[in-house]
Amino acid sequence: MTDIVQNLSDILVAIHRAEKDGGREPGSVSLIAISKTCGPEMIRPALESGQRVFGENYVQESAGKWPALREEAADVELHLVGPLQSNKVREALRLFDVIHTLDRPSLAAALAKEMPREFDRTGRRPRCLVQVNTGEEPQKGGIMPADADAFVDRCRAEYGLVVEGLMCIPPVDDLPSPHFGLLRMIAERNNLPLLSMGMSADFQAAIQLGATHVRVGTAIFGKRVAKA
Ligand SMILES: *Cc1c(COP(=O)(O)O)cnc(C)c1O
Repeated sequence: MTDIVQNLSDILVAIHRAEKDGGREPGSVSLIAISKTCGPEMIRPALESGQRVFGENYVQESAGKWPALREEAADVELHLVGPLQSNKVREALRLFDVIHTLDRPSLAAALAKEMPREFDRTGRRPRCLVQVNTGEEPQKGGIMPADADAFVDRCRAEYGLVVEGLMCIPPVDDLPSPHFGLLRMIAERNNLPLLSMGMSADFQAAIQLGATHVRVGTAIFGKRVAKA
């Protein structure tokens, strides 16, 4: 049995140490506990130990488990870190507080269309991060690094979206640091304060390079069973 509470506490200690080592403000890095494929029985111990920021990959899966969990902890902040289909945008805005995977103009258009509807309904305006395909991998979502500045401008000017930061998933076989450095450079020149980068294997390196949000799944919840 994975000791979720112990793992969470170990990760928080490691984050604080990395903040200190990197000369970062204490508390400047948010831990997003990535709970994809985890049932409520695994998420509840994390909630009980005080974790409030969670990330998920799938809209459908989240719709099945988070409304009930939110009844137990109303101040949960939920992040979507998986690809978003345009036809799921309305449901995603209803469920999530932050969307990390704004990665194409058609999705920007869909978000721009649904955002006012969600605001009228609930007064909420979920925040957006642009995903950058720093490794330029054909199978991976994200804007190419060379197109990122223009895309951020377009999201702001043409679609009226408030883009707050950038997200990347480095190629599995690469050293992650150059990707984190590239993402940070793109964020700086576009005045974007949030940097979502770093996972179980490399969150310390990401913090050294300026991550404000690290996305940690396996190191908290244990190895995931393959999704059917
Ligand atoms: C699953 C996932 C994570 C968590 O990865 P771990 O290696 O389990 O920490 C982080 N970010 C994204 C986008 C993911 O899909």
